[in-house]
Amino acid sequence: MKPAPFAYKKARSLDEAVALLGGQADARLLAGGQSLIATLNMRLSAPSLLIDINGLGGLDRIEVKDGMVSIGALTRHTQAEGSDVVGRHAPLIAKAIPHIAHPAIRNRGTIGGSIAFADPAAELPACLIALGGEIEAHGRDGSRRIKADDFFTDLYETALAADEVLTGIRVPAATAETRIGFAELARRHGDYAMVGLAATARAKSKGLSDVRLAFFGVGNTAIRARKAEAALESGDIDSAVAALDLAPQDDIQATGAEKKHLAGVLLRRVAAQLMEARQ
Ligand code: FAD
Repeated sequence: MKPAPFAYKKARSLDEAVALLGGQADARLLAGGQSLIATLNMRLSAPSLLIDINGLGGLDRIEVKDGMVSIGALTRHTQAEGSDVVGRHAPLIAKAIPHIAHPAIRNRGTIGGSIAFADPAAELPACLIALGGEIEAHGRDGSRRIKADDFFTDLYETALAADEVLTGIRVPAATAETRIGFAELARRHGDYAMVGLAATARAKSKGLSDVRLAFFGVGNTAIRARKAEAALESGDIDSAVAALDLAPQDDIQATGAEKKHLAGVLLRRVAAQLMEARQ
């Protein structure tokens, strides 16, 4: 199918992108186009204006500053996947990216697009929540930061205002005490996950503290399993699995009951990763 007709404008600056977004209620930003163009072609959406932000300067930087790793919104998945900085300082993101789709999609798809699209089965929103990261946004009144815990509000819905551009993400840089875990189950490698889990923790003399478990593919957004986090901090994996208070709905991939079972399987795998020496 072909998309409905739309106008196209290439933004020359961030402020111009914001102004164009504010000028037309159904305008959409175009980043890697890997999700947006598919929804246009299937006529699931029909914006009257596409604002191309590719090429905006400074939005594809990856850097570490003041203990935080910043990744610009226009960083392609492939670029982050091959980055030494991401590998060393944000190893959870490095571990998750190879699970996103296939190389052709990762070559074009952007970090900002994945976060803004907010697919409930996507890897990066869950990683951002597990890392306690934040989203940077730029709008008419300047820039602001939004905690990942507050950003994903509902199915494909975020805290971004209609005329805001997501400019990047920030996550705490890993330290010697950082532990990470990641696992997902998909029917084929590269498919969206049936269920996935991104996790972080801090190693202490015996066991773990500050455990953060973010499940994806089990609800309208990635979901923290707070009771299981507390159980894992006391070192009891069986109790953590029993404390999983997820209530996934049936979907085309699996029933809710199957997903709940798989979430428990993934929790055991990820708990083992968290308890290993730093990956
Ligand atoms: P686009 O498609 O350009 O935009 C997506 C949406 O985000 C649009 O609404 C757009 O307006 C908005 N947007 C984009 N950038 C910004 C910004 N900077 N500020 C505000 N809004 C913005 N993803 C996964 O996570 N896991 C998978 O397993 C996976 N599998 C896939 C399989 C297939 C076959 C395909 C086609 C895609 C898959 N994806 C998967 C999606 C892929 O990761 C996309 O790259 C990503 O969802 C969107 O990134 P994009 O840069 O292409 O955004």
